[in-house]
Amino acid sequence: MSVYPCINIRLDTITKNTKNMVATCTSHGITPAGVTKLACAYPQVGQAIINGGIHLLADSRIANLKKLNHLNAQKMLLRLPAISEAADVVRYADISLNSELATLHALSAEAVEQHRLHQVILMHDLGDLREGAFFEEETLALARQAMTLPGIELVGLGTNLACYGGVEPSTENQCCLLTIADKIEAENQIKLKYVTGASSAGLNIMQSGEIPKGINQLRLGASLLMGIGLNDEPIPNTSQNTFDLSTEIIEIKVKPSVPSHSTALDAFGNKPHFIDRGLRKRAICAIGKQDVDINQITPLDNNILVIGGSSDHLILDINDSDNNYQVGSLVTFNLSYGGVLQCMTSEYVNKHFI
Ligand SMILES: *Cc1c(COP(=O)(O)O)cnc(C)c1O
Repeated sequence: MSVYPCINIRLDTITKNTKNMVATCTSHGITPAGVTKLACAYPQVGQAIINGGIHLLADSRIANLKKLNHLNAQKMLLRLPAISEAADVVRYADISLNSELATLHALSAEAVEQHRLHQVILMHDLGDLREGAFFEEETLALARQAMTLPGIELVGLGTNLACYGGVEPSTENQCCLLTIADKIEAENQIKLKYVTGASSAGLNIMQSGEIPKGINQLRLGASLLMGIGLNDEPIPNTSQNTFDLSTEIIEIKVKPSVPSHSTALDAFGNKPHFIDRGLRKRAICAIGKQDVDINQITPLDNNILVIGGSSDHLILDINDSDNNYQVGSLVTFNLSYGGVLQCMTSEYVNKHFI
């Protein structure tokens, strides 16, 4: 595989972010879970989170938890399990988040078969409208049913916010979750190990002291890996300088900025539009839309304009840059959350762990 494009991943920064988040969370009675999905659960990243003091790794995909199997931490599956993957869920996840009785039956049967005890956190929907029952009675009924299933241990209640509906974590919705958790404990005479209130989006209300006592877990991904939380805003005491993307220039030419006699559609079926800036020095980098949405990348050199691309090519206007770029030079980009996810997922982007 060629060296470039490559995504640079600063593991020591991830560890430092994790240490700082563990310290702040602990002071608010919260033990964070470390979410690896943004980095496709590369074990190096899982280990960097463990080195920062987190002992529960979480991911949306069972395929990702398999990659973390050898690491010395508990594993939690975040996306509701599919019935068809129940065997792998019991094998590779210690804990899973659930909202369907049929799935709990499948997990129970598998757990019995594999002589394991599988821990279950029930998800309740507090209005963001992704997973979990919206009506309290449904969640309470599911808890009662979970209690009767062999091989399954009901260990917690959780909710997901700020994902689909953009509902912010608040004192109010966190208190609702606690109320339901209390009812589950009272009805079933159990003590829940986890009340898991939010993702990195919950750090704001935690740091301002507005998260109610009793919420004891946040599931942290973006904050550990990129230092961002609600609305992609930076989290205090974290560094955002974790990932960047290096690409190699394969052509530099001076060209007009408007195509000659443009009438056809572009490679993606869109009618292209152009701004006439006259003759400009342009560079082509060896990366394209197959690897990353070019709207998710920002050149570190802010005199470079990203003007477009196709599946395998990225076209830059380097006319106004002070750098003396040559064929073979590197151009480095900052990445949004989506940009990191795509580059980590693309098999054509080399992963460079620093
Ligand atoms: C992705 C995810 C998280 C982590 O979200 P971040 O914004 O990366 O902190 C937490 N919980 C669930 C259920 C998720 O799917």
